[in-house]
Amino acid sequence: MSIIIQKFGGTSVGTPELRSQVIERIKETLQEGCQPVVVVSAMGRKGDPYATDTLKALAEDIYPDVSLREVDLVMSCGEILSAVVLSSMLNAEGIKASALTGAQAGMVTDGNYANAQVVDCCPDHLCSFIDDKVVPVVAGFQGSTPEGEINTMGRGGSDTTAVILGAALDAERVDIFTDVSGVATADPRILEEARIIDRINYSEVSQLAYEGARVIHPTAIEVAMKNNVTLAVRNLTDSGPGTIISEESDICGKDYGVNPRQVVTGIAHISDLAQFMVDFAEPDAHLELELFEKLGEAGVSIDLIGVFPNLKVFSVKQDVIKRTERVLQNLSLDYRIQKDCAKVSVVGVGMRNIPGVMAQVVKALQQHSIEILQTGDSNITICILVREEDLGKAIRTLHEHFQPGKKEDSKV
Ligand code: ADP
Ligand code: ASP
Ligand code: MG
Repeated sequence: MSIIIQKFGGTSVGTPELRSQVIERIKETLQEGCQPVVVVSAMGRKGDPYATDTLKALAEDIYPDVSLREVDLVMSCGEILSAVVLSSMLNAEGIKASALTGAQAGMVTDGNYANAQVVDCCPDHLCSFIDDKVVPVVAGFQGSTPEGEINTMGRGGSDTTAVILGAALDAERVDIFTDVSGVATADPRILEEARIIDRINYSEVSQLAYEGARVIHPTAIEVAMKNNVTLAVRNLTDSGPGTIISEESDICGKDYGVNPRQVVTGIAHISDLAQFMVDFAEPDAHLELELFEKLGEAGVSIDLIGVFPNLKVFSVKQDVIKRTERVLQNLSLDYRIQKDCAKVSVVGVGMRNIPGVMAQVVKALQQHSIEILQTGDSNITICILVREEDLGKAIRTLHEHFQPGKKEDSKV
């Protein structure tokens, strides 16, 4: 029997009404004659009683020095509670189901708390439930080391659980159910006009995910790409097909050489960034290396890095500003900080080797008086650092200019 992985995000299991719709989706799979393997996230979002942020705060707000190990233990409970609630609902509906922790489902992790990698997946125990015609409901976002230490897989990690199980069980499909109708050309909560992308390839969606499109976790895409797993990102509450993520894309294979306005597939963003500018009185290779080594040792992840003889520029998430400043002060370096920044990224495989895309980005932003604080690029992405207050305007401007997702004959 074909296996279909059905992953339901926190937004899809947050209320009894939504959970009833989840049950309907599982029934649809059974009616198709397929075996569902369900993966769930913790119920709800920040502020909800069993949401990941609430459980995290339970430990961290009261005991600021609590270890990452204990935080992982408490966070892993959110998904377990969700799995138990859903399996109980299924049983009450006459569908045999059992909740499994990530470890029980065979997710073997590397021991890194808060950001674990799954190093192996041993689904034999899970398969015994399938053999007994029981629907397994797996707690996403977690696994355990061979010694039994519980690890979580980074925020948004339940998507990765679903894809790993999809690969391990050779599933026919992995459906990621969420609260939007698929991967859109920009965050639909910021830009109403964002268009749902019918098909997108792994490279582009991976770039969008790394640059902040949190509708799908970047590691999930990496695992899907390596194992050639096709994903569908769908809305729990509508019947649309959503976005198919595979090797193919809507725009691959077409010739965009003539009109550089057609080269962008989507726009992603990351908020809450700070830009650091570190001044060196004179070039100093040793100090330069020490700076980046000490930042790494302090666990400060840096982005949009510009290294010049007398100046080093980089951005960090605002919640590590203090840690970053401590490193700079210990090295007696002079620095300036620009707080409240955001990064907007335009992504598209169509921009590879196309001249003039950067000029269009600059022109469009200048026309709307949006100051560019810094830029960075790879072959399919241009990133622009702007002030947080300009973020919405920058997304709208670039979206209007490049018209990602607009069908050639579309009037929209
Ligand atoms: P879930 O709880 O289902 O995992 P998430 O909150 O992790 O849901 O992801 C869904 C959210 O991703 C949407 O509500 C939307 O605001 C956001 N999002 C950001 N960028 C995009 C995008 N390009 N397309 C669709 N959604 C996006
Ligand atoms: N519940 C976890 C989080 O909020 C994992 C997930 O939702 O995928 O990050
Ligand atoms: Mg998510």
